[in-house]
Amino acid sequence: MSPRILVVGAGPVGLSAAVSLRLQGLPVTVVDKAAAPHTHPKAVVLWPRALESFERLGVADRLVAEGHRLTGQHYHSNGTRVASMTFRRLRHTKYPYALAIPQHTTERVLRDRLSELGGSVRTHTELTALRQDADAVTTTLTDLETGAAREEAYDWLIGADGVHSAVRSAIGVEFVGQTYEQTFLLSDGPCDTELSTDSAHYFMTDTGVLVMVPLPNEQWRAFISAPREIPEGEALVDTVARVVGRRSPVPVRFLDGHVAGRFRIHRKAAEHVWRDRVFLVGDAAHAHSPAGGQGINTGVEDATGLAWRLGAICRHPRSAAESGRVFTQWADERHQVVENVLRDTDLQTRLWGVRGLRRRLRDAVLYGAERTGLLDRVVIPRQTQIAQRFSPGPGQGRPKAVGVLRSHARLPNVAIPTDTAGGARLHDFLSLTEPVAIEFDPAGTAGRHSKVRHSVVQRAGRDVVSLTGPALRSALGISRRVTCVVRPDGIVADIAPETARNRGDSTR
Ligand SMILES: Cc1cc2nc3c(=O)[nH]c(=O)nc-3n(C[C@H](O)[C@H](O)[C@H](O)COP(=O)(O)OP(=O)(O)OC[C@H]3O[C@@H](n4cnc5c(N)ncnc54)[C@H](O)[C@@H]3O)c2cc1C
Repeated sequence: MSPRILVVGAGPVGLSAAVSLRLQGLPVTVVDKAAAPHTHPKAVVLWPRALESFERLGVADRLVAEGHRLTGQHYHSNGTRVASMTFRRLRHTKYPYALAIPQHTTERVLRDRLSELGGSVRTHTELTALRQDADAVTTTLTDLETGAAREEAYDWLIGADGVHSAVRSAIGVEFVGQTYEQTFLLSDGPCDTELSTDSAHYFMTDTGVLVMVPLPNEQWRAFISAPREIPEGEALVDTVARVVGRRSPVPVRFLDGHVAGRFRIHRKAAEHVWRDRVFLVGDAAHAHSPAGGQGINTGVEDATGLAWRLGAICRHPRSAAESGRVFTQWADERHQVVENVLRDTDLQTRLWGVRGLRRRLRDAVLYGAERTGLLDRVVIPRQTQIAQRFSPGPGQGRPKAVGVLRSHARLPNVAIPTDTAGGARLHDFLSLTEPVAIEFDPAGTAGRHSKVRHSVVQRAGRDVVSLTGPALRSALGISRRVTCVVRPDGIVADIAPETARNRGDSTR
């Protein structure tokens, strides 16, 4: 019998999970309590790592076509530029930029993809209760149009139902952390300004922060910390326009057609992201400041990292203990990522608001970080999430590194001059469903060929992707044969460099 999987919540994270499961040929039911897709201004930035995940879901090209590329970001303190970052120098990715795209566009593209794959969203349907035992999750789903509630049983349930997650409450998981005192306001729409449209602009002032992000179709996102006093009766969009005028050193005039919103931000994480047959992903599992735009990006990684593991377990059922080990590894990795995201976004949010001596210190650190290359080397790879690396759990071995290849870390998406037209990138060899073994052999082809030969060979009865040719030396920084096992999410599970001992095995 096919596994029954329910995704609760058709935001960007639930939709990513559903698309990934459908791509693996698994049936999936998606419910959302909203009657129709929303059009509110929410997240606007997709980083390279999320775009890589979206590429595997078959939607990256569409998103890139609808989005607006940002090549950097500039930081100003009380009107003076203190540092700039550029994404152009990001190496080993197809996406050396941030993609500005409204969240509702991302959701529309994902919904279209889901429907192409034979899936759909049951709208106006709220999960109102659930209980689980060893065999199933029994849900109560309420049709909000008729008020009719009915019980439906599933094998697995993915809770992608946002920050106020009903799934999280139903499985008794605490959402631990704080809500910031500060309220934030935002407004999306056209502006008359000479601010450059290829970068995001951060203006940190003694009265609060302003972030201006260029969007597609000549629109802008203006994001501000709310001023202490807002005149009674002032429309939200007028408040934002007034504050933008004060905090931006370059004139910014709001044109007609803005949509404004107000929100509080949290620093919270679910105590557990997995309980038996139920998982928490996206804002249901963590909520943080939008500083650095990590919300959607982290959630999509939660979802895609879970979906291939869940898919594997559905296709090849294992004992509860074995599946438990798989989900524990996923939960451990997500915990490591979320801890970093909470720490980084909290630090950025606090730095926005410092004054006096601390402000001067912050500005000096930012200035120094740009001049010494620290922003390029450390901050950007971390913010864009392409520097992803995990501490291995028990039984996963010690981290290994050969050239640019590292175990328990993202496989760099290096361009390889293969003999196929246009060459290839390493991520082209990944599978959606299973870890793949890739053998890199810089000495495997005689002569000084500039092209890398690609073939599939048998090693110990298994298919192995074989890449051979001296060009691998400079591309990957390796001098001898190396075999990597790479998971569907692009993380290197293991590396086996050739040694005198295993040379015989690997060439058999
Ligand atoms: C105003 C605002 C601005 C933001 N700006 C940024 C930003 O600039 N950068 C950034 O990275 N992030 C930002 N975020 C956060 C970002 O929007 C979230 O991280 C992202 O939406 C998380 O996606 P999700 O799919 O986990 O949850 P959501 O997008 O919240 O989706 C959850 C879905 O679940 C549905 N649902 C809820 N409960 C139930 C239930 N019981 N039954 C059925 N369905 C249910 C909801 O209707 C909703 O469709 C912002 C958020 C807000 C509100």
